[in-house]
Amino acid sequence: MDTNRTILIAGGGIGGLTLGVALRRAGFSVRIFERAPTLRPAGAGITMQTNAILAFRRIGLDAAVAAAGHVMQRGSILDSRGRVLGSMHLSEMAQELGAPLIAIHRARLQEVLQEALGPEPLALGLKVVGFREEEDAVFARLSDGTEARGELLVGADGLRSTARAQLLNDGEPHYAGYTSWRGVSQVAGLADPASTSESWGRGLRFGIVPIDQGRTYWFATANAPVGGIDAPEVQADLAARFSGWHEPIRALIESTPASSIIRTDIHDRPPVRSWARGRVVLLGDAAHPMTPNLGQGGGQAVEDAVVLARCLATEAGVPAALARYQALRIPRANDFVRQSRRLGEVGQWQNGLACWLRDQLFRLMPESSIRANLRRALTFTA
Ligand SMILES: Cc1cc2nc3c(=O)[nH]c(=O)nc-3n(C[C@H](O)[C@H](O)[C@H](O)COP(=O)(O)OP(=O)(O)OC[C@H]3O[C@@H](n4cnc5c(N)ncnc54)[C@H](O)[C@@H]3O)c2cc1C
Repeated sequence: MDTNRTILIAGGGIGGLTLGVALRRAGFSVRIFERAPTLRPAGAGITMQTNAILAFRRIGLDAAVAAAGHVMQRGSILDSRGRVLGSMHLSEMAQELGAPLIAIHRARLQEVLQEALGPEPLALGLKVVGFREEEDAVFARLSDGTEARGELLVGADGLRSTARAQLLNDGEPHYAGYTSWRGVSQVAGLADPASTSESWGRGLRFGIVPIDQGRTYWFATANAPVGGIDAPEVQADLAARFSGWHEPIRALIESTPASSIIRTDIHDRPPVRSWARGRVVLLGDAAHPMTPNLGQGGGQAVEDAVVLARCLATEAGVPAALARYQALRIPRANDFVRQSRRLGEVGQWQNGLACWLRDQLFRLMPESSIRANLRRALTFTA
């Protein structure tokens, strides 16, 4: 391996950090530029499903991620009164595919990735503001006025990626029509640690995800205009929205400090057919931002990172590596973008009759077809 091969990465999120680890383990020199002055963990909990854990296994991180998280054993879709619309033994699927589904606090995941990366490659408080290319190199322009030189620049800089704006110039992301709230309740015993669930109502959904024996990550969605800001009494507002819903929804909201509840408007982008040009390539949300309805945005960023590192290590030259990376990753990631958008649209239906029909159809859906879809989603083979 030529140790002079330096890869520049814009963004130290899940995708950028995982890529950094994968590249360093393959012998590359890596420089990650993260605009935030510190890596503060935002976003409460996250699920890293079997496909993400299998991808982590390729770079030796699966055991560390699993040990820092909580195994999801059973997953259910419920109605607002808590009646089961559909249920799945996730542990059986995990056994079949060879790796668990993990729910984890984002802070813990970030710690695992940062520890595996080591401190040297990460430059905090430096934003990538643009790039320029020469024949044999790419230069990332940084917010302190300097430039960094590398063989390749990877835009892992999220939903509103600067690298993407220069590469594709395709404007603002698409607002899905609903917003989300996320929180972590520290009160043990509120939720069944073996079960994760998502409850569907009219224009509202509520998810419950245990992330260890004591803490429970929860999320809520509601149809809303873009750009809404919460009042300080966000707990009371959420409790009112979900009034009459099954327990422990109210208890979870009320046991989560208002200051730690995170509100995020939900966006995606229409899928595109190219993520690269010259010596610049996109990864994770910069490449394929998706709505969170399948819990796969982060998992797909992990898959991207592992596949891109492998392509760079095995293909002869950057053009061949990027061609292979895109051929392996674009169809699968774009499928998740489309499916996730469709699922979110149905999940946010507000009309009473439509919701009733949706719930009946869910109840009647054969388990075999749910399993087949899930098996496809959770398989990582690239
Ligand atoms: C409500 C909600 C729930 C979700 N739940 C799940 C889930 O359960 N499972 C799952 O897999 N996914 C989930 N996701 C999606 C997941 O959070 C994202 O897909 C994932 O974080 C994408 O990682 P990323 O590294 O590509 O981008 P990000 O996490 O957005 O990281 C990008 C990083 O780049 C930095 N940055 C931005 N611009 C620049 C720049 N110009 N220069 C330098 N640095 C820059 C940012 O500060 C950030 O640190 C959820 C998303 C939401 C909104």
